[in-house]
Amino acid sequence: MRERRSGSSFNSLRSERKLESVFLFTTGKCNARCTMCFYAQDMEKKAADLSFEEIQKLSLSAGRFNRLWLSGGEPTLREDLPEIIEMFYKNNGIRDINFPTNGIKTDLLIDWLKRIRKNCPGSNISISISVDGFGETHDIQRGVPSFYKAAETLKKIDDNFRDDGKVIKNIATVITKYNVGEVLDFVLWVYGRFNVSTHTIEAARGTTREDGVKVVTEQSLREIQDALAPYYLLYARRIGEGMNALGRGITEFFYVGLMRAMYNIRAENIDKPTCWNMDCTAGETTLVLDYDGRFRACELRDPIGRVQDYDYDIQRIMQSQAMKAEIDAIGHGYKANCWCTHGCWIMSSIVFNPLKMMQKLMAANRETKKLNRPLDISEKVLTELEGKYRLDRDKLKALGIL
Ligand code: SF4
Ligand code: SF4
Repeated sequence: MRERRSGSSFNSLRSERKLESVFLFTTGKCNARCTMCFYAQDMEKKAADLSFEEIQKLSLSAGRFNRLWLSGGEPTLREDLPEIIEMFYKNNGIRDINFPTNGIKTDLLIDWLKRIRKNCPGSNISISISVDGFGETHDIQRGVPSFYKAAETLKKIDDNFRDDGKVIKNIATVITKYNVGEVLDFVLWVYGRFNVSTHTIEAARGTTREDGVKVVTEQSLREIQDALAPYYLLYARRIGEGMNALGRGITEFFYVGLMRAMYNIRAENIDKPTCWNMDCTAGETTLVLDYDGRFRACELRDPIGRVQDYDYDIQRIMQSQAMKAEIDAIGHGYKANCWCTHGCWIMSSIVFNPLKMMQKLMAANRETKKLNRPLDISEKVLTELEGKYRLDRDKLKALGIL
């Protein structure tokens, strides 16, 4: 029987602002060398990762919160990661786990997912594999040859968790100068070849490892997003498969609305910071823990302290003068001083602005429907793309993708 997804912490509107999401940079190590990595400078510090015992103190002090967003470095390089996730599940009652990975360690990841599903049965786990383009493009952008490895990981996750609604399969693509010309073809190919629930497209952000990779402008991002609108209707329908008509309608409304609303905000902020027309709740509902114990309100602002100086006490950190000053510095609503394109914080903030959220979702649904058009995702088109981008079809066949 198909395992149903648990009610996500995103499914309800919230107005009380309290800790909702902890972003845990699990390690400062990585087995890729991505050109657009915004964390490269931090990883180059080569400081020691927080130990399991240090993270345990943080977990024990945090109280209940809903979402654990893993980050890094590459999370699969942290050997005790399953124990860490299980600890947050037990101590903090997390309902959603976001697990991004470059997908290089296929078998380890499958073993871990099985273990996490067994030991954290009430949590959804959203596994997000980074794939940036066809074959060589992906490998150049990621700095290591890993396209077929990431494809194998996606296939194996689907094979193992196809009927498990609590394992949400996602592909994440970052747009840079390397893949901007093929991203529309790539989204089509991914939809046709992989059984994923979502495919998120994000422009490179922050200070990137390689200069000059950020090439997207507001206009070009809007063009890409408009062209992708029909896929979000398709993905919403894929997610809603097996639900009744009401469930499908609600899923489509929220999924399409959130994706389009997030993309609109990103486009408005790509050339210059522009008010989101709602508060960013960084520091009020979110806490970022760097791998070495520094902490921040969000990933794009500087660290404001070290957990070691607060006895690893998350409640103290959230109530600290440093965090209060940071929230004041960020500001609120139209008077705020700080805006960006970061999808995680747009999504994290939107549920804490319920009125604005409903307005944005309704407008976003109307826009998406206007942009809908028929798509040709036939075998012929998919095969042509594999030829055009010189994919190794024998390898794809051996992986069970064709
Ligand atoms: S973007 Fe992620 S996978 Fe790539 S180098 Fe940075 S931490 Fe590693
Ligand atoms: S708008 Fe962006 S950079 Fe500013 S606080 Fe929010 S997430 Fe951070």
